[in-house]
Amino acid sequence: MAEKLFLEVVTPQKAIVSEEVEIVVAPGSEGEFGALKGHTTFLTSLKVGTLRYKDAKGKERYLFINGGFAEVLPDKVTILAESAEYRKDIDIDRATKAKERAENRLAAKAADTDLVRAEVALKRAVHRLRIKETK
Ligand code: ATP
Repeated sequence: MAEKLFLEVVTPQKAIVSEEVEIVVAPGSEGEFGALKGHTTFLTSLKVGTLRYKDAKGKERYLFINGGFAEVLPDKVTILAESAEYRKDIDIDRATKAKERAENRLAAKAADTDLVRAEVALKRAVHRLRIKETK
């Protein structure tokens, strides 16, 4: 059996994950990275994407991660995310509406629209929907 490491995923609202895992794969801003027990220590920022891990029973779990930071230590990975939710907690209607809102803002190009904000909101919504479609 693979050696375990501890995973914590924390957002400003709440702790989402706090458990022993076999492997973590996270969306680093320089590219996706994987961490197993004994990994070299490093710090990285994260982009909007999917965090997946294998829990102690070997079950694969998927979470949406809205950017943030990861600290990787040999026996622990800590993720500080702006927001995060398990695939099962993603509300499809909410993400679909957020996607439409962002698309409409980008298409209308009103003078008072913050285009970067709309693009980031669109990215979040598209990723949430993509994770929901996984498997
Ligand atoms: P919205 O415009 O619908 O609020 P958002 O991308 O701006 O979406 P965030 O700022 O990423 O939302 O998250 C705010 C809170 O709402 C977080 O707790 C996040 O987990 C939750 N959340 C946002 N969208 C969804 C969703 N589609 N399903 C479940 N939870 C969501």
